[in-house]
Amino acid sequence: MLNPQRTVAELKELRALTGDENGAQRVAFTETWSRARAWLREKLKALPVEIHSDPAGNVWATLTGKSDRSLLIGGHIDSVPNGGWLDGCLNLLAGVEILRRINEQYDGKPPVTVRLVDWADEEGARFGKSLFGSSACSGNLDLEEARTLVDRDGVRLPDALKTVGIDLERVKESGSELKNAAAYLELHIEQGPVLERMGLPLGVVLGTKGVERHIITFHGQEAHSGSTPMNARRDALAAAAKLALEIRVIAKKHEDAVCTMGSVKTFPGIPTAVVGRCEVTLDQRDLDAGILADMHREAQEASHRFAREENCTVEWSRLWNIEPVPFHPHLLELCEQALRETSGTVHRMPSGPLHDAAEVSRAGIPTVMMFVQSLKGISHNKIEDTKEEHLEMSVAALDRLASKAIDWILRQQ
Ligand SMILES: [Zn+2]
Repeated sequence: MLNPQRTVAELKELRALTGDENGAQRVAFTETWSRARAWLREKLKALPVEIHSDPAGNVWATLTGKSDRSLLIGGHIDSVPNGGWLDGCLNLLAGVEILRRINEQYDGKPPVTVRLVDWADEEGARFGKSLFGSSACSGNLDLEEARTLVDRDGVRLPDALKTVGIDLERVKESGSELKNAAAYLELHIEQGPVLERMGLPLGVVLGTKGVERHIITFHGQEAHSGSTPMNARRDALAAAAKLALEIRVIAKKHEDAVCTMGSVKTFPGIPTAVVGRCEVTLDQRDLDAGILADMHREAQEASHRFAREENCTVEWSRLWNIEPVPFHPHLLELCEQALRETSGTVHRMPSGPLHDAAEVSRAGIPTVMMFVQSLKGISHNKIEDTKEEHLEMSVAALDRLASKAIDWILRQQ
């Protein structure tokens, strides 16, 4: 029998083992991370599962079924430094509980193979690149870039990987793990305020938003703050400031779109000079590729308009982008049913943050995620929290979804 209270108890156990007064400390490739993974292995050992690490350092626990076709449930035990007690590990421990239930129900031989995966370094806390293990597995990891990544202490990613037995040049061989994958499920805390504001415990995740991330540089003229009349200025910050407000107008045209100017740098950046150069970053996200492209174009047009108004010039350079990843339509349907049966209500929402599920989906595996409410919408912080009754509901909902997914996989054979 499924025992969601056990999941909550195990989450607390993990917190005590790998957290301190500042929060969770399971940063990937550290000793605490290894300790967390060893603890997870111990939990899994009570089940008749085969456990191994793939070439990217992802850990797979496999309960072999009558069919090779497999249902995957994923999460990540790594955290950011001073992280929360639920991010990533709720998914895994819920998965462990569901493995227990399935093992018990089918006497160790479920109709399809069921696998739990602990993705390596989802957070990218040390090298600044998230979704390491899942992007290696999906084949989307940029190896050329990965070879050049360096942590704060000057340690190169390939060398850090070597110390935990991973050869960067071979990480994409982990892709063979997806060979018989028929569906991938992931439960995650929402990490935002939407469900709490709506008074709902659970949400169906439609997909992960696409991202357009750019550096925008306005060029004006450095000039003395005392001697330069207001109408003679070419103030690069003034143009950037207008854009900072305009991106909110651009985003608000669309229900779930977001635009953020997260960084502003002024040069020379002293009190006595008009800003001659201003560098800002713009991060735009939406689940709809067309809307994302429109917002990008509108922001570009606005930046040129404001540059003209302030007698400045502007240039754009792309930092990073990723296309939206909509999840599988039929699994969305099953997820909605599972949530309705568990909590009576359903809300469909996109995910702003990226998740491992997006990588699995990009690899062509039918994928869906569900969110459980986050209190105050806060995550990546020691105060990250979710009501225990909601945590238990989320385990029950994921379990229902797992059963529906197994039936769905069987129907395809
Ligand atoms: Zn996470």
